[in-house]
Amino acid sequence: GTTEADISRHTPMMQQYLRIKAEFPDTLVFYRMGDFYEVFYDDARKANALLDITLTVRGQSGGEPVVMAGVPVHALESYLSKLIKLGEAVAIAEQVGEVGATKGPVERKVVRVVTPGTVTDTELLADKQDSILLAVASTGARARPTLGLAWLSLTQGQLGLAECSAEELPSWLARLSPAEVLVDRERQPAGVLAARLPITNRPSWQFDTALGLRKLCEQLGVASLQGLNAQELTAAQAAAAALLSYAEHTQGRALAHVKSLQVQRASELLDLPPATQRNLELTQTLRGETSPTLLSLLDSCRTGMGSRALRQWLLHPRRERAEALARHEAIATFLSQGFEGLREALRQVSDVERIAARVALRQVRPRELAGLRATLLNLPALRSQVPAAGSALLQSLGEGLLASPHLAELLCRAIAEEPAVLVRDGGVIAPGFDEELDELRGISQNCDAYLLDLEARERARTGIANLRVQYNKVHGFYIEVTTGQLDKVPMDFQRRQTLKNAERFITPELKSFEDKALSAQERALSREKALYELVIDELTSELPALTRLGRALASLDALAALAERAATLNWARPDFVPQPCIDIQGGRHPVVEMRLRETGAGEFMANDCRLDARTRMQVITGPNMGGKSTFMRQVALICLLAAMGSYVPARSCRLGPMDAIHTRIGAADDLANAQSTFMLEMTEAAAILHGATDQSLVLMDEIGRGTSTFDGLALAGAIASHLHDKCRAFTLFATHYFELTEFPAKHAQAVNMHVSAAESGEDIVFLHEIQPGPASRSYGVQVARLAGMPGSLVRQARATLEALEAKAGEAESQIDLFAAPPEPVAAVAEATHPLLDALHDLDPDALSPREALEQLYKLKQLA
Ligand code: ADP
Repeated sequence: GTTEADISRHTPMMQQYLRIKAEFPDTLVFYRMGDFYEVFYDDARKANALLDITLTVRGQSGGEPVVMAGVPVHALESYLSKLIKLGEAVAIAEQVGEVGATKGPVERKVVRVVTPGTVTDTELLADKQDSILLAVASTGARARPTLGLAWLSLTQGQLGLAECSAEELPSWLARLSPAEVLVDRERQPAGVLAARLPITNRPSWQFDTALGLRKLCEQLGVASLQGLNAQELTAAQAAAAALLSYAEHTQGRALAHVKSLQVQRASELLDLPPATQRNLELTQTLRGETSPTLLSLLDSCRTGMGSRALRQWLLHPRRERAEALARHEAIATFLSQGFEGLREALRQVSDVERIAARVALRQVRPRELAGLRATLLNLPALRSQVPAAGSALLQSLGEGLLASPHLAELLCRAIAEEPAVLVRDGGVIAPGFDEELDELRGISQNCDAYLLDLEARERARTGIANLRVQYNKVHGFYIEVTTGQLDKVPMDFQRRQTLKNAERFITPELKSFEDKALSAQERALSREKALYELVIDELTSELPALTRLGRALASLDALAALAERAATLNWARPDFVPQPCIDIQGGRHPVVEMRLRETGAGEFMANDCRLDARTRMQVITGPNMGGKSTFMRQVALICLLAAMGSYVPARSCRLGPMDAIHTRIGAADDLANAQSTFMLEMTEAAAILHGATDQSLVLMDEIGRGTSTFDGLALAGAIASHLHDKCRAFTLFATHYFELTEFPAKHAQAVNMHVSAAESGEDIVFLHEIQPGPASRSYGVQVARLAGMPGSLVRQARATLEALEAKAGEAESQIDLFAAPPEPVAAVAEATHPLLDALHDLDPDALSPREALEQLYKLKQLA
């Protein structure tokens, strides 16, 4: 804490700095000094650590050395982008006063605060992703709070509101993937801290419902939130109060372009919990890369706007299917009427969405306006490429391309053909737009011509043949007349200076030229700045039209990209039906298929999947690497693609209503340290059992693997029963517990499926084909043969195995793994019979066939 008394001990400059810093205690303050932004004291140490810039100590202030570090002005953007990526915020204090205007340091002010969630600078943003600023308010009982969410994409000008429980928060955070989260410094919701997102603490009073309601109404220009269905969302309103205050604070102005609000209810969206987003590799691979993922495969968009829309559609699919249907229809229309022309034209389109936001925030650069102009002029051509019939959605998007002609006309008149990068460089406003500017420019450009012309006129008027118009720094412009000619000087010549052989005069005309010329360039520049502001004013009044245009372009691009993918990858239009079912013919995993194609590793084997009211669960068995995970994931991906409005990688597909996709899939590294992740496995499974309904799709891959065989088997059986009996979810249950192939016999809505493998000469060939019935168990023996075991041994092993299987079958039938929980399951898990203990200690995966045989003999002795 720095008090005024502390501050007054410092040098005047450091006093100014410390006062600014006191307003931004949690933010790095970049303090402009000439060609550098300097950071001081703790900020300097932090910058040193984060940016690897050198610390220096310069002079003393307040009796202590001043620790500082600096970044050159021209390199600001690159340092900012590093800091933003690290989740830091930066307040930029510029020199706003005139140098030397007052005693002491030049006046400085924070002109903007750049934070991860509020950046709008085109240079600092990824093209294909939006920065979302999210505020989370925690209201109600601390033990069971209602969480209010309010979020904003500054570059899209869109506000969102939602409410959820603490359990649901992780899903929302994963879905929104905010760049920055605002929380009440006295009431931080645990889920936010756990998500390891950049957090900004804000004072409690800013999370206020009444304040939020007022600010929202003001922002949206409405009298109440009734019409927006947000009146009763008091927790979300509290979050909105903090959100809007902070966003305005960082931009240093009101947010003129933020005019639309969407209220999201978890119940309206297809639920995609974080585990699902991760396991299905929607936007990130399990290793954290952005490719190859479903999004990277889908995104063939021509513009950043399109890519951002596509990501949004993918992560926020709706349960209600009208929107998706309209997109399917649009894709079909594109496929029949062509889309390449439109996609070609979209290449030239500039990022209208972001430009609109930057107009509103008055940060728009001249070249962005030139880009906007080119886009506006191109709209009629673009529009002619949008199919006019066949899809109501395309038709209305096409109409969205009718931007006001006034806009294009204004930009043509106002902005130079090829404007300078910055307004302060001049050459931004077009000639002919403003008389005064033209004249000012004319003066500085045509000074010499004007003076020659004036000289000629004055010579003619006065008859003084050697009269000269001249200029010097001290006296400015003057007319020089030699002493001999003085009698011809007219009345309107005023004496300025007398020399030995000549007199110097000024005339009213020359005087007024001088006034203009001396400062013409400076005045031209400031006139340009003022005019530029005027142009922005005019554009501001057209913001709704610009925003609408940006959205239309984004949607058209995304839809055309989906059409292109459908055509290129041979995808089919899904059918939605009201009855519960997932009926996929010839489904493929799009990313695995692409990888096989690219590496030339062979054809992808298409598979069917049929689930309906009578068959809700598939128990899938078969050897490792057989294709179980791939199959399950592809079913989920196809359901998701259909729900977002895309075609799907299948021959045909019929889908009933769906409310969620849950997945429990062990990652490869889970298996490596099984014990430590067993808790995680069970936590995820528990969340699924609580959340899944009869409209959910559940993928369970190798559940129970993280613990000992019997524990795992018991749990897997119990979980399968719960999913089947209680949740009644559509479930794909892949397991290495062969015992679970007994499950369908006792559960009417479950069936056995297996991945096929075939012996082909010396090899086992995985056919990756999903077929009815349980897997055959004999692959271990086959592998032994493959390894070169003598034929007689293999034959003996096979015979033994068959005998053992018969025996094992009898033993198992005495234990009902799937009877009503919990008693029988617990009984297995806690059994203490020596035979069971011995079994418990066995790790079949670690045994060679021979060791397995030996162990079996031992077990038999125990029995
Ligand atoms: P499992 O889950 O049974 O261990 P995976 O689903 O991980 O097997 O599949 C293993 C590998 O087999 C995949 O990486 C892929 O290369 C290949 N594969 C899986 N399914 C298919 C398929 N339907 N067609 C072709 N190759 C496939």
